Amino acid sequence: MTIAIVGAGMGGLALARVLHVQGVEAVVYERDASREARRQGGMLDIHSGQRALREAGLLDRFLAIARREGQDMRLLEPDGTLLLEENTPDDAPMARPEIDRTDLRNLLLDSLPEGTVRWGHAFDHAEEGVLYFADGTSARYDLLVGADGANSRVRPLLTDARPEHLGQNAVELAIPDIDRTHPDLAAMVGRGNYWVFGDGKSLAAQRNGDGCVRIGISFYNTGEDWFATSGIPFDNPPAARARLIELLDGWDPRITALIAASDDTLVPRSLATLPVGLTWPSSPTTTLIGDAAHLMPPVGEGANMALLDGALLGLALVAHPDDFGTAVAEYEKEMFERTEARARMSADMQQLLMSPDASRRLLEFFQPS
Ligand SMILES: Cc1cc2nc3c(=O)[nH]c(=O)nc-3n(C[C@H](O)[C@H](O)[C@H](O)COP(=O)(O)OP(=O)(O)OC[C@H]3O[C@@H](n4cnc5c(N)ncnc54)[C@H](O)[C@@H]3O)c2cc1C
Repeated sequence: MTIAIVGAGMGGLALARVLHVQGVEAVVYERDASREARRQGGMLDIHSGQRALREAGLLDRFLAIARREGQDMRLLEPDGTLLLEENTPDDAPMARPEIDRTDLRNLLLDSLPEGTVRWGHAFDHAEEGVLYFADGTSARYDLLVGADGANSRVRPLLTDARPEHLGQNAVELAIPDIDRTHPDLAAMVGRGNYWVFGDGKSLAAQRNGDGCVRIGISFYNTGEDWFATSGIPFDNPPAARARLIELLDGWDPRITALIAASDDTLVPRSLATLPVGLTWPSSPTTTLIGDAAHLMPPVGEGANMALLDGALLGLALVAHPDDFGTAVAEYEKEMFERTEARARMSADMQQLLMSPDASRRLLEFFQPS
């Protein structure tokens, strides 16, 4: 029985690894040409997903490379007022440590036998037990697992649901080698998260394990076509940085100095989500995990849910090796309940972040009176 996983992200790799640990081999088809083909982005805070890493036999290795101090937090208002500062003691539990996406992906990739991931295989469509790839090649399967992220091409095999714009557009920036190039800004951001919320915008800077600080600037209650009208010239990085600083008019110059210090890679990101509580009639030949199944606002749940989906589907398949239909139905029942609760919580947090007094409400969230 051939298990074909489309997508070598957190979910797909966790599934392949848990199956491998249990003596079942699967094939992962990934669109990217190699593991280095694309920058993986910033940090992930991993909490409930630690259970998946335990099932994968990788928890100790994860804890050895995760950053406890990444849990540090500074919360500010746009005028520079510091509302909250939390520093993580050296002996604090690793409840929500941060890890570079690249490090976590490499941990999972290195734990799989050579050849498990078939790079350069962009899934196009499936018909009668055969997968067809964009380059014209094909492969047989008994169970197809869509782990292909937000814009999944596997999803339409199970549901007509499509991601809808979240009303949030973001620009990602980075200051590489910040300790050497901008030690003053490195000290300002600190070892973990540096968040500024106000007047429908936010700036979230975060120390990464590779010596870089990554920054996300979000514009809330903005539409799908916002980038076309924002006046940010992405093809001219110095002018794009200047425009971003202009859009944060009135913000403390010490905060906008992070934008001025960024390098020339500015990435626009238009955010979307799937409906909360999405389900579909179970099929013995196809299922979904991770963002393909339940794309949520980016408030720290998606990667954890993807890891758990992968691990729990793996365990269900091992428990019913001759009956994929039962395994998939069992996995989906638990997954629908678990991720609906997390998606609802994420949507509530997103509402809070989009509110005009987000910084004060966040302060109350972290320090309830
Ligand atoms: C800015 C930001 C910050 C976030 N921070 C956090 C956080 O701190 N904690 C957290 O839990 N979550 C976080 N998330 C959410 C998290 O990134 C996602 O939920 C998680 O990566 C989903 O994993 P996945 O395996 O489902 O999909 P992905 O990680 O997106 O992997 C999908 C894979 O499928 C491949 N693929 C796509 N299409 C095809 C195709 N047609 N054929 C073959 N392969 C294909 C892609 O190349 C990719 O490798 C954040 C998200 C954003 C945007």
